[in-house]
Amino acid sequence: MCGVFGIANHPEAANLTYLGLHALQHRGQESAGVVTSEGGTLHAVRKMGLVADVFSKEQLASLRGSVGIGHVRYSTAGGSLPKNVQPLTAEYRHGAVALAHNGNLVNAELLRTKLEAEGAIFSSNSDTEVILQLMARCNETTLAGRLAWALERVQGAYSLVMTSEDRLLVARDPHGFRPLILGRMRTSPHAYVVASETCAFDLIEAERIRDIEPGEVLTIDGAQLVSQHLPPAPPRFCVFEHVYFARPDSRLNDEGVYDLRVRMGAKLAQESPVEADMVIPVPDSGVVAALGYARESGIPFELGLIRNHYVGRTFIEPKDSIRNFGVKLKLNPVPGLLKGKRVIVVDDSIVRGTTSRKIVKMIRDAGAREVHVRISSPPVKSPCFYGIDTPTRAELIAHSHSPAEIARYITADSAAYLSSKGLAEAVREGPERRFCDACFTGDYPIPFDPPTHRRQLRLVEF
Ligand code: AMP
Repeated sequence: MCGVFGIANHPEAANLTYLGLHALQHRGQESAGVVTSEGGTLHAVRKMGLVADVFSKEQLASLRGSVGIGHVRYSTAGGSLPKNVQPLTAEYRHGAVALAHNGNLVNAELLRTKLEAEGAIFSSNSDTEVILQLMARCNETTLAGRLAWALERVQGAYSLVMTSEDRLLVARDPHGFRPLILGRMRTSPHAYVVASETCAFDLIEAERIRDIEPGEVLTIDGAQLVSQHLPPAPPRFCVFEHVYFARPDSRLNDEGVYDLRVRMGAKLAQESPVEADMVIPVPDSGVVAALGYARESGIPFELGLIRNHYVGRTFIEPKDSIRNFGVKLKLNPVPGLLKGKRVIVVDDSIVRGTTSRKIVKMIRDAGAREVHVRISSPPVKSPCFYGIDTPTRAELIAHSHSPAEIARYITADSAAYLSSKGLAEAVREGPERRFCDACFTGDYPIPFDPPTHRRQLRLVEF
């Protein structure tokens, strides 16, 4: 759960990266950073906090150079600590390098153990640093060759932006778990941009060219773009990006997230109808699916819960103590609207069940006669190892409870999830368009089994 941004060949690289990070803020709120390259010399500003708070005008002005990379972070590997703030920077025998990563490497611990046994010193505990350490050990003569060499040795999810030798390098893992899109500035066609989501392009008036392909390592060196490819694997884009994580105004895999979410809501209405007076979303995560449910069912859409936008996402705060009172901080029912009414409340997912339980209580306390919960994705039963923050299996309510038991726990009159088939239809899954849905199915494209990885480690040569 992070956002990355990169730009090459633009005199305003730092400012545009800063703006791009604003548009990606929903992907991570713990820390933000920008590194620019001025003829190969790196300038960096990185800090814990939101984009708006991290950079002062003076600091942005100090970020000189025509290549920039940026990162917003929510930690899924490595703690929420200043030393893990990205982009990471390092010096090695080929000069200075900066790297920003969205995703999670599943064999980073094992590679790190081996590297440390050989004497490597790490300056963070982020999985991303393993990539830099591997590059430093590689004898390939080109920068892209060194990056590709390192990436052939890591496993997991990565969408990367890197700068070194005054170039912008971009890479996406062979499964293509996390998004990464290439664009160019409308006013300056040689200024190439990459971002986790197209909403960053809209803000800076860039146009989308194409998605970075799964397994592609792209070097942008002046006006020249050179691609090479890692050994291929079946593409498995993360379906949870479409369900929850991405902004609805983004296009991922050349599909509008908004449209797919409307379809999820409509399918849910077809699969799990119920008589009611209104459909209300849990804002913001359930808004678009609720709209789809309302359109399909013909039941009026109302904003029964109002969100306080000045409180961050509650779940996204890693500490339990904050999450537990977070729902009240964030949401409040509209007085009068819900009284005596039969309400369908739509959200995108139930993780632990604590949010839904509090929301149902809140709606009942506001006088609703019936509360029916509808979830626009299947039950989350398994943790994600590829970069979406999910708690352990034991904490996932759907891992050990049926939908009927969950309905009782959250005190709803009924609760229903979108079926796996419904989700697949909504996102147009097919043989040529497969997704990673491990959080719903437990089908992990890269098996995460520490003993197996240890065995594989012996085969890793570097
Ligand atoms: P919970 O109370 O644990 O069931 O959390 C459910 C709420 O968290 C729903 O409103 C979801 O939109 C939201 N949610 C689901 N997955 C995530 C995630 N990985 N990070 C942050 N929020 C999430």
